[in-house]
Amino acid sequence: MRLILLGPPGSGKGTQAQRLVQKHSIVPLSTGEMLRAAVAAGTPVGLQAKDIMANGGLVPDEIVIGIISDRIDQPDARNGFILDGFPRTVPQAEALDELLRKKHLKLDAVVELRVNESALLDRVEKRAAETRARGEEVRLDDTPEVLTKRLAQYRAMTEPLIHYYSERRKLLTVDGMMTIEHVTREINRILAAIGARDKRTTVAAKKAKKPVKPAKAAKKASTAARKAPKPVSKARTAGKAKKAAPKPAKKVTKRRAKR
Ligand code: AMP
Repeated sequence: MRLILLGPPGSGKGTQAQRLVQKHSIVPLSTGEMLRAAVAAGTPVGLQAKDIMANGGLVPDEIVIGIISDRIDQPDARNGFILDGFPRTVPQAEALDELLRKKHLKLDAVVELRVNESALLDRVEKRAAETRARGEEVRLDDTPEVLTKRLAQYRAMTEPLIHYYSERRKLLTVDGMMTIEHVTREINRILAAIGARDKRTTVAAKKAKKPVKPAKAAKKASTAARKAPKPVSKARTAGKAKKAAPKPAKKVTKRRAKR
């Protein structure tokens, strides 16, 4: 199963991705997480991304596309993956299409988590407080100012993807304002429906493709020929008419006369 989770910052993509990977034995691929790891490790990509991320900007397309392409090739992603935070722009979505096409992989669905924007600030503040309570470092971009910028970025650059995937009949929208449990249940219900539909399509396609074996075809043809109504010739009709005609009555009169 290959999925994309689409939604603004704080919509619960990360939380849902974690829950879905357990159930479907697939890997979560979060570009944000990968970039944060690169920043922490001080890699060339991390150095390039650090300031952009801290300011709520978007890291250049070619960087994130490169990261995702490499990651999809890893053995643990063979069974499937959930993309969280990628694609974020139409060019990224087009690059992903091309990438999957070249790798002969199919995207199953894009799940959009639709949320009320006014709830997002509360959610992000809560996330920051929980991170602090665990003694972990709070994300530099989890502040009200940067969130406002990230939201504007989402509306301008990422929201067009809703139309992009809807046109390609991949988009499924889930109410992200429900409880975490409800959202997971709803996504799983949708994924089960997609799985069942794909299974039906595969079976139908296999049946349509299955060649009839030559021996079987010959047997079928002869059975059909046997069963088919035979042409009625004039001679036979005449013979049948003869057979059907009543036999002349036996001559009883003679015997009676003998007695
Ligand atoms: P996230 O963890 O998904 O909220 O991402 C955190 C930050 O990483 C974003 O605000 C961007 O600066 C950067 N980032 C993550 N994914 C992408 C992407 N697909 N394209 C560009 N920048 C990204």
